Amino acid sequence: MISPRKNSVLGLVELTDTDDLFELHGTASSRALHDVFHDRLKGWVRSRDQWRLLDNNRICVILKDIGSQGELELAAAKLGRIFKEPHYHRGRPMPLEVRAGFAEVNGRDKDLKLAMQQAGMALWQAKKKSHLFDVYSPQCGMNAGDEQKLVEQLEVALEQGALQLYYQPKIHAGYRSLIGAEALMRWHTTDQKVITPDQFIDVAERHEIIKPMTWWAIKSAVARLARWPDQLSIAVNISPALLLEDDILSVVQDALEIHGVTPARLNLEVTESIMVDNQDVMLSQLARLRDLGVKISLDDFGTGFSSLAYFRDLPVDEIKIDKNFVLRMMESEKDHAIVKAVIDLAHNFSLKVVAEGVENLDIANRLAELHCDILQGYVFDRPLPVEEFERQYRV
Ligand code: C2E
Ligand code: CA
Ligand code: CA
Repeated sequence: MISPRKNSVLGLVELTDTDDLFELHGTASSRALHDVFHDRLKGWVRSRDQWRLLDNNRICVILKDIGSQGELELAAAKLGRIFKEPHYHRGRPMPLEVRAGFAEVNGRDKDLKLAMQQAGMALWQAKKKSHLFDVYSPQCGMNAGDEQKLVEQLEVALEQGALQLYYQPKIHAGYRSLIGAEALMRWHTTDQKVITPDQFIDVAERHEIIKPMTWWAIKSAVARLARWPDQLSIAVNISPALLLEDDILSVVQDALEIHGVTPARLNLEVTESIMVDNQDVMLSQLARLRDLGVKISLDDFGTGFSSLAYFRDLPVDEIKIDKNFVLRMMESEKDHAIVKAVIDLAHNFSLKVVAEGVENLDIANRLAELHCDILQGYVFDRPLPVEEFERQYRV
């Protein structure tokens, strides 16, 4: 709830259901749609507000001097009006649906991070209730009951095979050939909806369920590798906390042995944030996994707070530059400089570099010029259901 002081409010605004639209109108329309999203947002924010892109279909905004719940409701109503008209692509209407989550903030850095999480919860609520927006209040965040319900639904989903791995191609930057795929989890609900991981991984990570989910993902990816040509690899995302579990070594080893798959074809992606807590344990566990012969990627590189000092002894094979730098590298000199610096740094340590979030050929070509090794992004393909991936790439 907004207190009656002149405070700032942090908002997350998302253009929803874009996947369905792209399916309907073709991926070529995706640029146009994102441009429309950004253009219309410019008509919403006031000059004193600050905003930045988090993703093509998501922005973070700081609305200054919002003194009451009523003022926020007015701002939200204006957002609704601005997106009311559909966008016409080649004469066909494409409805634009936005959802927003808001949370109060009072300007200090540590509050910003908290406000971001709270706005994320409010956005989740807005999406769940199909409301234009929701405002964070301790009661409106996901309560323990809701969270427990989601965990129970996930347990059933896992048991009934409603969780699936989608595969997004990883492409050799020079030859533009397929070198493998990243496995990304999707949840097919009984009402035919496909839920993306941003709506369930965080909750799963706060409960034991993340373990069986991840073990299932590893086994399923390795079983898939056994059917694919030897030169292809698969990357599986591992939640940081699971690296503290000894089971992970036996799960990985058993899966590889049962299916007779060469360990180097399995890639485990861990986020850079693992370096923040329990650094020593994390590093030794990564080293043990690497001793099995599997490859380790450091995901979302550039978003964490790791120091360069540990880089020297880091037991990883590959760095994935976070998509937020890649997405903006052609427009922002600073992001371009970061991408270039990360590529050079990684190569000096004999690490491979993957760029994710490659959305157009200009970015792909520039990354190749900068000697980036591997590319991943919508310009090649979105994460695809496995049958579609295999058909498309003839594996
Ligand atoms: P991530 O590991 O950073 O995965 C990349 C995300 O970027 C994926 O989102 C992918 O669909 C999206 N992406 C790929 N190419 C582009 C592009 O060109 N532009 C843009 N804007 N986005 C692109 P997705 O599938 O929704 O997954 C979100 C996150 O959920 C993943 O981020 C990962 O952290 C987590 N996740 C997904 N599957 C699993 C899993 O099996 N286990 C765990 N622990 N986490 C998972
Ligand atoms: Ca990843
Ligand atoms: Ca990533």
